[in-house]
Amino acid sequence: MFENSITAYEEAKNVIPGGVDSPVRAFKSVGGTPPFIDRGEGAYLYDIDGNKYLDFVQSWGPLIFGHCDKDIEQAVIETAKKGLSFGAPTVLETKLANEIVEMYDNIDKVRFVNSGTEAVMSAIRLARGVTGKNNILKFEGCYHGHSDSLLVQAGSGMATFGSPSSPGVPADLTKHTILCEYNNIEDLRKCFEASDDIACLIIEPIAGNMGFVPANEEFLEECRRLCDENGTLLIFDEVMSGFRASLTGAHGVVKPNADIVTFGKVIGGGMPVGAFASNEEIMNNLSPDGAIYQAGTLSGNPVAMAAGLVSLQKIKADKDLYNRLNAKTQKLLNGFKQAAEKYNIAFQSKSIGSMFGFFFCDIEPKNFKDVGTCDFDRFAKFHHEMLKRGFYFACSQYETGFMCDAISDEDIDNCINAANEVMELL
Ligand code: PMP
Repeated sequence: MFENSITAYEEAKNVIPGGVDSPVRAFKSVGGTPPFIDRGEGAYLYDIDGNKYLDFVQSWGPLIFGHCDKDIEQAVIETAKKGLSFGAPTVLETKLANEIVEMYDNIDKVRFVNSGTEAVMSAIRLARGVTGKNNILKFEGCYHGHSDSLLVQAGSGMATFGSPSSPGVPADLTKHTILCEYNNIEDLRKCFEASDDIACLIIEPIAGNMGFVPANEEFLEECRRLCDENGTLLIFDEVMSGFRASLTGAHGVVKPNADIVTFGKVIGGGMPVGAFASNEEIMNNLSPDGAIYQAGTLSGNPVAMAAGLVSLQKIKADKDLYNRLNAKTQKLLNGFKQAAEKYNIAFQSKSIGSMFGFFFCDIEPKNFKDVGTCDFDRFAKFHHEMLKRGFYFACSQYETGFMCDAISDEDIDNCINAANEVMELL
């Protein structure tokens, strides 16, 4: 059933490292050949072998309305007809910035970039520039893009400065990054004791890059308190959770507010967009008004802005959207849970809004190490068997699933039926 994809993958590998432009797409953690996609429509993906899949990845989050949403499609086509890029201001940028500013109490100004990686890189520069401090505090298992300073793994012992997690990253560039265990208040306090030079604490308040693992309320409150006490800026990386967890992302779900917020995915409606945002005082430090340099030839690209603008307008206009997404996500996970119970399979699941995760393990994972104890072989088998039956899930237990509005209750019933068949085989 995958013959054309197998050939395409071999051909791709000849000219593209690993055959893919982003490693997760190679299906390394579940094995096998990734289906090469021909097109998407609503809730479904179609591969080049003609297989049809119900898509719970939705381009890793951006497509909250599903593939080929007619309003977004029309905005993209109309805008593209007027020219693809100008490298000059357009009113679309102001309109999209306004949508975000109106929704978030702690945001007055937004700067657009082209990816989540760029958004975080720029937010960190801003935090360092504003505070005059050098170090970054991040959490094990949180992903903030592939920039040098953030590709760190734990050094020896707790509360230590990280060492590079990839060749090509000089240790000199990660020596300013402190790595802390997620949801561990003791460790967090030790990190602040270890350094009085922390410019920013960056966190996925609802982590989606070690599987789906939300931070607990007390932990986030302590992040906020320690940042305030130490002159450190709190950055919420909402590249994934923004406009996914709720209308105001994690900010709509957890108590503390961040000083700087990063966005991506949904705000581009499927086009490459990222953004970082903060209050006026902090953002005014950016060039051209302030001294902190940040730029981009294609930043604020009109076609991307048009797609993002329609997405956010639709999200805001549809008062019931998050209720629907939430209900469908819970229905899916409840169905999975019942299937797992029926066949005595250790299974954990969790969701907030349209983000969800499930793990094959006994206890609910609270941090990266916990996720490491899950049954990865069982996950791989589940993934393949579901794929064969036409259900496309994120290809690793370290990833998150995404519900979209185009997925129907009937789709979910079909998926739960398939999960029952598959759980029996695990
Ligand atoms: N931050 C978070 C929380 C992310 O989930 C991601 C991507 N999954 C990034 C940053 C990086 O975004 P991009 O892949 O667009 O560079």
